[in-house]
Amino acid sequence: MALQAPRGTRDLLPEETGQWQYVETTMRTLCARYGFQELRTPIFEYTQLFDRGVGSDTDIVEKEMYTFQDRGGRSLSLRPEGTAGVVRAFVEHHLEEAGLPVKLYYLGPMFRYERPQAGRQRQFHQFGVEALGSEDPYLDVEVIDLGWTILQALKIDAIRLEINCIGCHLCRPAYEKTLKTYLQDHRDQLCADCQRRSETNPLRTFDCKRSSCQAVLAEAPRISDALCDACQQHFETLCSGLDMLGIPYQKTATLVRGLDYYTRTVFEFKETLTAEAATVCGGGRYDHLVAEIGGKDQPGVGFGIGMERVMLLLEQASRMPSTREPIDVYVAFASPQQQGMAFDLVSQLRRQGVAAEIDHGRRSLKAQMRAAARKGVRLVLLLGEEEVAEQAVTLRDMETGAQRRIPRTEIVQLLHQQFSSPDAIELQMRGAVHEINGC
Ligand SMILES: [Zn+2]
Ligand SMILES: [Zn+2]
Repeated sequence: MALQAPRGTRDLLPEETGQWQYVETTMRTLCARYGFQELRTPIFEYTQLFDRGVGSDTDIVEKEMYTFQDRGGRSLSLRPEGTAGVVRAFVEHHLEEAGLPVKLYYLGPMFRYERPQAGRQRQFHQFGVEALGSEDPYLDVEVIDLGWTILQALKIDAIRLEINCIGCHLCRPAYEKTLKTYLQDHRDQLCADCQRRSETNPLRTFDCKRSSCQAVLAEAPRISDALCDACQQHFETLCSGLDMLGIPYQKTATLVRGLDYYTRTVFEFKETLTAEAATVCGGGRYDHLVAEIGGKDQPGVGFGIGMERVMLLLEQASRMPSTREPIDVYVAFASPQQQGMAFDLVSQLRRQGVAAEIDHGRRSLKAQMRAAARKGVRLVLLLGEEEVAEQAVTLRDMETGAQRRIPRTEIVQLLHQQFSSPDAIELQMRGAVHEINGC
C-alpha cells in the first residue's frame, strides 16, 4: 500500500506555499516595522519546560503533548506552543542585556495530539510575538495593535477584539476564593470537569463550552469587580490606548483564556464569519512566567496566531492572493544540437535575475511552445539551426505572436533590463516587446 502523511498532518503543495509565503512575509514585514526580531527555537524541548511554562494540569500538557524518551533516556516533547521556548531562550541567553523590553517573534510548526478537524491539525503552525521586560500598558497596546494591523493587512476584517483584565498575584487570589465559594454553591449544576476545576483552578471553568456551566458562570462574581487599583489603572490605560488608535474592542468579563500563566491583560481576536467565532489570534500578559521558567522575575506580553486558521479565513473570504512566481522567459530549442547553447542561455538569464525555464523532456518545438504557454510565459526565445548560424535568437511575444530576431550577444542584457524592476514588469514587458519589434 502506498504511504500517506500521518493523520493530523498535511503537505503544503506548491500551489499553497506561495500563499503561505505571502502571509508570512506580511507578518515579518510588520514585525520589523514594530521593532520585533525573529527568534527560532528548537522544535523539541525538555518536557519539564512545558510542565512549568504551560502548566502540568492543563489539557495541553496532560493529554496533547507528543512526549518521548530519546536514546539517552531524557524526556523530550515536541513543542505544543511557542511562548515557553521563547521565554526559555530569553533567560538562557540573557537577552535582557541588550535592553528592555526585548521584542521577539516566532513562526513555525507546533504539535498537539488532538482530533483533527478543519483548521486544526496535529502538526499546526503558529506565528507569535512576545515582548519581555516591561509592565507598561502601552506595550500591551503595541502588541494588540500589531496583531490588529497584521489581520488588517491580510484583509481579515470580519473580526472582533475581546479584552479583559484577570488581575494579578495581589488581587486574584481573593477573587478566586470568592469564585470557588460561588461554584461550590452551584456544584450540582456543573459538569465533572468544572467540578474538578472549581477546586484546582476555578478561573478555568470560564473556558467550559457546556451551556449548563455557562449559565452558572454568567451569574458568577466578576473579576472586574475585584481588581486592585494597580490592575484597574493598567486596564484603563490599555483601553484608552486602544480608543486613541481607533481599534474597536469589546470588554468580555468571562474571557480568561486556557493557560494559567496569564496576568492582567488577556485578549482574543475572533472571526465573525461563522457561528463558531473561532479565535484567530489570542494572547495576554504573563508577568510571572519568566520566573516560573527559572529567570529573574520579568513581565511579558504576547500573542499567537494560528496559521491554518488564517489560511482558512482567507480562503472562505476569497481573499487568497494568487502568488505563483511567474517565469519570465522560456528558452525553446529545435533539436538536440542546440540544447547546449540553449541551456547556456537559460543559465545566463538566471544569473542576470531573469526567471527562465527550459525543456528537459526532449520534447518537440511545438510541445515546448505549449509548455511555455501553460506556464503563462510571456516571452519565448527560440533557438533553431538558422538562429545558430546567424548567432541570433528569435524573440517571440506569446500574447501577440510578434517575433523578432536579436543578436545573441545582446539578448541577455536586453532581457535583464526589461525584468530588472519587478514592480513595473507588466508595462516594461509591453514596452520591451514594442521596442524590440522596432515597430
Ligand atoms: Zn491586581
Ligand atoms: Zn463545565
